[in-house]
Amino acid sequence: MDSTPHHLKTNHNHNHNNKQKDKIVVIMGATGTGKSKLSIDLATRFHAEIINSDKMQVYNGLDITTNKIPLHQRCGITHHLLGEVDPVLHDDFSPLDFRNLAGSVISDIVSRRKLPLIVGGSNSFVHALLVDRFDPDSNVFDPSSRSFPSSTLRYNCCFLWVDVSMRVLSEYLSLRVEDMFDSGMLDELTEFFSEFPSRSGLKKAIGIPEFENYFKKYPPHDGHGGGVGGDPVRTEEAYMDAVREIKDNTCQLAKKQIGKIVRLKRAGWDLRRLDATEAFREVMSNSNVSGSEVWERQVLEPSVKIVKRFLEE
Ligand code: ATP
Repeated sequence: MDSTPHHLKTNHNHNHNNKQKDKIVVIMGATGTGKSKLSIDLATRFHAEIINSDKMQVYNGLDITTNKIPLHQRCGITHHLLGEVDPVLHDDFSPLDFRNLAGSVISDIVSRRKLPLIVGGSNSFVHALLVDRFDPDSNVFDPSSRSFPSSTLRYNCCFLWVDVSMRVLSEYLSLRVEDMFDSGMLDELTEFFSEFPSRSGLKKAIGIPEFENYFKKYPPHDGHGGGVGGDPVRTEEAYMDAVREIKDNTCQLAKKQIGKIVRLKRAGWDLRRLDATEAFREVMSNSNVSGSEVWERQVLEPSVKIVKRFLEE
């Protein structure tokens, strides 16, 4: 017998069959837009468990470099597929792998009468997970491709899209990269390059290709690479170049992610856009803001309303 509680099922079937579908909430948005923060706030209110959909964060390792939400900020919420995959054993964890694994996690969460909350910036993962029929061979995000994302989905989805104007987001991302280095990103990269596995799913994570030249010049074992405290390293041109590249590539990633989100919206995915630009402006102009009042008013409260209505449908 299906034990799914009523509020996690829908009768409003927009699609071709009448089978009831499980309800899930999906938080989308470019890197750095506050998806993780929103996911914790919603998960605590709606008894949800979080499934990570960032293709680098599924791997174990490089926690600072890939921006995994730290344990102390998770507020006891269960996270799935966050740092669970071995990057060497499974160096090519694909959208199809994600569809299969996250699909069974969703069934499990629903069977325990909790709400699945998908959070992460990899739209290829989100697309693979949600479409009714997934073809691993067609790239629906390639602008020159003939195939378009399908809007026939296998779950009843409530989509929240956290958006920040690119001008404000670039400024914020640049500051975030500085913060990441202050929190020990160079040490983490030094450790990665000192082992440097010939195969690793993390090789493409932003930070790795950008620091390759630096670690060629200053191999991790000769005492330079991890010189976070000693600082002469920081003034090195190779270091500055790598950091600059990371900032640029992070902004490029954000632009590409927004492009993919817009493509999904145009394909008929019912994304509810929440504009967090003002909240980001506020946080950047005032370093003392702990809980942003603008964020609560313009992002959190509308999201809570949207999810509440969705669950009551
Ligand atoms: P693509 O098809 O371009 O891989 P995607 O939607 O599958 O796009 P994205 O999440 O947009 O996946 O990631 C694209 C690339 O951006 C990754 O291969 C990686 O280089 C970088 N990237 C994504 N997420 C992170 C992260 N958390 N940390 C570091 N780099 C990341």
